[in-house]
Amino acid sequence: MKRIHNFSAGPATLPLSVLEKAQKELVNYRDKGASIIEMSHRSPEYTEINEQAAERLKRITGADDDWEILFLQGGASTQFMMAPQNFLNSERTADYIDTGSWSSKAIKEARLFGNVHIPFSSKETNYSKVPEDHELNHSENPVYTFFTSNNTIFGTQYPKEPATNGSLLVCDTSSDFLSRPIDLDKYGLIFAGAQKNLGPAGVTVVMIRKSFLENQVQRDIPTILNYYTHIEKLFNTPPVFAVYMVNYVLEWVEEKGGLSYFETFNTEKAELLYSEIDKDDFYRGTVEKASRSKMNVTFRLPGEDLEKAFIAQAAEYDLAALKGHRSVGGIRASIYNACELDSVKALVKFMQDFRKNNG
Ligand SMILES: *Cc1c(COP(=O)(O)O)cnc(C)c1O
Repeated sequence: MKRIHNFSAGPATLPLSVLEKAQKELVNYRDKGASIIEMSHRSPEYTEINEQAAERLKRITGADDDWEILFLQGGASTQFMMAPQNFLNSERTADYIDTGSWSSKAIKEARLFGNVHIPFSSKETNYSKVPEDHELNHSENPVYTFFTSNNTIFGTQYPKEPATNGSLLVCDTSSDFLSRPIDLDKYGLIFAGAQKNLGPAGVTVVMIRKSFLENQVQRDIPTILNYYTHIEKLFNTPPVFAVYMVNYVLEWVEEKGGLSYFETFNTEKAELLYSEIDKDDFYRGTVEKASRSKMNVTFRLPGEDLEKAFIAQAAEYDLAALKGHRSVGGIRASIYNACELDSVKALVKFMQDFRKNNG
């Protein structure tokens, strides 16, 4: 069986061991004579999976009992409106740091529910950086500060959490969740679409602090969009297959050594690629060095024809999904947790050969 070197930004590569485990039990889950996706979401089998996934996530992130873990639908994009609907109104202001397309989409939704203040935007420089703390102009008393920890499209990532004006953070961490340790004390709400670093599409992991939820606004919120609904009980059918897969990915994360293991591993992979990019000016990184992402490595070549040739020839070596996002062009190598070191080494080797032949 041939597996490509998969640099897809999302849905993205998953650990082979997890895929094989799912394959093995797909038709007959634990001798029940049915697949896990053919059983009730209230069955003991699925209940165990849901609880196990939540427990594992708490163990991996070090979350205490103030934290609730929810497996919701609608993608990270639904959290763009669900968070402000629960916490923002016309008397309140939230700070939203604008570092790319996903932040902008979150800002657009938040404005439907209340006041949005933008402490920093890198839009003018085509989102080539994330802010340093001294560049942030906070509002007086924000109800929360929103940021996108990793900007999947532009290839930037916060090296650490941004400073706030005393508020807790609300974070879209869709493309770097569980890629490194996280200082939970700074956060009130964290969400991530699973399809980048965590599992298949279809589930959004939400971590919410009960003490933060006490700030919920007084307004009529549709039942399914109210965080309390999902904390109280399994309200409706969860995306069972996606949660089942996430549970196995979490098991794999723990077996590998947890978040500090992945921080080291992801740094090693990113450094291999960036040092190749920085060797001369054939390859050019697209963002400021201090803001470089360890998840989505973006770069350009001297001309769009060369970029096209690069992508086409790379595919001949099974180096796949390297085309930059349609809104920015160039090359993007997404190297999430499940991307193997061998894949990165194969890409570096190809970059060297391509430079030799075309530089
Ligand atoms: C992919 C992505 C999203 C969108 O996620 P959906 O699950 O498709 O709604 C949001 N934010 C970031 C940072 C992403 O990478």
